Amino acid sequence: MPSKRILCPLCDRPKQRCLCPFITPTDNRTFTLILQHPDETAHAKNTGELLHRSLNHSQLLIGEQFNPAQLEAYLQQAVLLYPPTDGGPAANTPPPDQPKTLIIIDATWRKSHKMLFLNPTLAKLPRLSLSKEYSGNYRIRKAKNNWQLSTLEASCYALQQLETCEATYRPLLNHFDQFMDTLVGFDPNRSKPIN
Ligand SMILES: [Zn+2]
Repeated sequence: MPSKRILCPLCDRPKQRCLCPFITPTDNRTFTLILQHPDETAHAKNTGELLHRSLNHSQLLIGEQFNPAQLEAYLQQAVLLYPPTDGGPAANTPPPDQPKTLIIIDATWRKSHKMLFLNPTLAKLPRLSLSKEYSGNYRIRKAKNNWQLSTLEASCYALQQLETCEATYRPLLNHFDQFMDTLVGFDPNRSKPIN
């Protein structure tokens, strides 16, 4: 990164891409664990970080393969936001009780698949899939499946679904639209799906 660029002291990003105005304190009831692939960290559209900084109850771990002991603390009554895969649990396999933790993989589809393979304890978790009615921002509605929603949107929709409380997440989703507008202003590849 060129040293001349002025970075925001709070979010460590160039001023033009500062996340801070879009951080929206959100009182989620379901603790949210965001497992972010290292490739996403430097991404301008790092929606996983915006999500983490907005949710009152969340943790962001960066990595591809996690120490099972590190994950262990989060796995009880947890659901993984992930579509069904061969050999894995079916979609919407209900956990024994209301989930306490929602686990999100913040990565491209291909890398998320690898992360599941490298972290078998995650692959075994009950899965949550988004209901069809959630379509997201018009810029990414072209996406072929839910996976292509941004991490932030997919997570908010999953939390709304789990908590049956849409209003809690609406301010964050609204701010997220503004965040996307700001990014699109700088992004020549504006028609690309946003991860
Ligand atoms: Zn900032």
